[in-house]
Amino acid sequence: MKKLLKSKIKTQNRTSCSRVVDEKRKRCKCGDFLIFNGKTNYGKQRFLCRRCKTTKVAEPSISSYGMQFNKQIIQLTNEGLGIRSTARVLGIAPSTVIRKILAIADGIVPPRISNGLERIQVDEVHTFIQNKDREIYIIYSWDQELKRALSLAVGTRSKVNLRSVVNPLLSAEVVSINTDKYSGYKGVVPKKLHTTFKRRNNGIERQNLNLRIHLKRLNRRTICFSKSKEMLEAVLKIYFWCKSSKKTV
Ligand SMILES: [Zn+2]
Repeated sequence: MKKLLKSKIKTQNRTSCSRVVDEKRKRCKCGDFLIFNGKTNYGKQRFLCRRCKTTKVAEPSISSYGMQFNKQIIQLTNEGLGIRSTARVLGIAPSTVIRKILAIADGIVPPRISNGLERIQVDEVHTFIQNKDREIYIIYSWDQELKRALSLAVGTRSKVNLRSVVNPLLSAEVVSINTDKYSGYKGVVPKKLHTTFKRRNNGIERQNLNLRIHLKRLNRRTICFSKSKEMLEAVLKIYFWCKSSKKTV
């Protein structure tokens, strides 16, 4: 009896085309009708617009829109979790985590560098993108006094990237910049300010070790490299300048 009723309801709701959803249903933003397009992992009906190819879920199980997950994403990223593990812990999609990390990093402004700082150190960390064929460097400046990063660049060790790290320091009129003996710094850091003492770089060298311990993608002997430069840069920005305990986004 129940089955009969169900099938009756089904036939009543159907329109001429079996794939087209009933009239009560909303239309797409572009104005076209939506059609059924399989189910989500949670078993919810997904719809598709044939004209603009966008998909839509009628009532998503978890609403991961808005800011509600941002704080946790920052916290988990700083604890060294990758994208997929963050997604598993929070119960949201990896693509959502990626989108949110990029959005959070986009809104981060590097700290203002106060004038006349001493003990500034600049160094590079070597890592890879995707696999060991694609080398990349993380170049950043470190304030040993306040234990914080001041500027950051991700890419090759070219003069352009070195300049993007050093120039904000120069405009803040720092007193001295200590680097390693890499030849690329010649011409980028003015001779007056430049020193290359190994002992004076120990603060940033220790910080490099912190980075390698705290961020899974920078571990040695790992296969968990970032898959894109943008993502690596975003995660580093969050790690350096967005401590979840102090600041809520
Ligand atoms: Zn559409």
